[in-house]
Amino acid sequence: MAGVRALPVHLTADRPERALLGATDVRSLAASVGLRPTKTLGQNFVIDGGTVQRIVRTAALRPDDVVLEIGPGLGSLTLALLPAVRRVVAVEIDQRLAGLLPETVAARLPSVADRLRVIHRDAMVLDATQIGHATAEPPTAIVANLPYNVAVPVLLTLLARLPSVRRVLVMVQLEVAERLAAKPAEDAYGVPSVKAAWYGDVRLAGTIGRQVFWPAPRVDSGLVALDRREPPQTSASREAVFAVIDAAFGQRRKTLRAALASWAGSAAAAETALRAAGIDPSARGETLDVVAFARIAEQRP
Ligand code: SAM
Repeated sequence: MAGVRALPVHLTADRPERALLGATDVRSLAASVGLRPTKTLGQNFVIDGGTVQRIVRTAALRPDDVVLEIGPGLGSLTLALLPAVRRVVAVEIDQRLAGLLPETVAARLPSVADRLRVIHRDAMVLDATQIGHATAEPPTAIVANLPYNVAVPVLLTLLARLPSVRRVLVMVQLEVAERLAAKPAEDAYGVPSVKAAWYGDVRLAGTIGRQVFWPAPRVDSGLVALDRREPPQTSASREAVFAVIDAAFGQRRKTLRAALASWAGSAAAAETALRAAGIDPSARGETLDVVAFARIAEQRP
């Protein structure tokens, strides 16, 4: 493919860091498929090898991991992941990028190119069956520089659909990273924080400046790490717990008694449910952790 420069094998097989993409590589790869990055698809490509190496290091992957990468783009992160793990399943919505990626990897990292599977698809509609068509191995980790406008729904949807995923390391807009990792009573605590905490222990694992991207976004980025654990023990379903979370934060300034009135049928019924769950009806949703939301969901009249 025009524009994809094959590096001599001896430069790549033993020294994978040489295969990583810099600014010139990223621009010429984009040009080779006539791609002008769009905001709609959150197309900000990493042009700095140090950043993708840092992401892979922070993800603390094992050599037998099967990594799901959402939005591989031109392959900046993919090229850093491939030498570290058994398989990378890369899911890309943009057909030109999905088509180019195997060629880029074959040219720059031929010794591990057979570890890559590419799925041309919208990650929002991805499930285990589609991954199963690409590889028989269920993904054990998600590592990605997520498209920023759909980062939270993509992450929560994949955690729900892919129970085999034990660990997540994603780069998202810093504000979103802070929201995902926030704990009760912190300013950034909200729906994404509680829902993410259903699946695992979440933490902010670093911040990243704008200059490592082409084009540079208007916001800083953050790394979010999630270690999966069992969800809270509860007789309520995940959907029932999430419905309480949505209702409680839908009217953020209100007391839980008021915010959960339509969920319970009336404010009086909400108060009864809250008291039965051992929660002060005059408390606000932003003070509760996911376990408390599960207790409320168990009381649905
Ligand atoms: N991983 C690359 C990097 O670090 O340079 C690109 C990251 S860029 C922020 C996001 C990528 O996600 C783009 O390649 C974009 O085309 C892709 N994308 C956007 N929406 C998507 C979706 N719904 N499903 C899969 N890929 C998507």
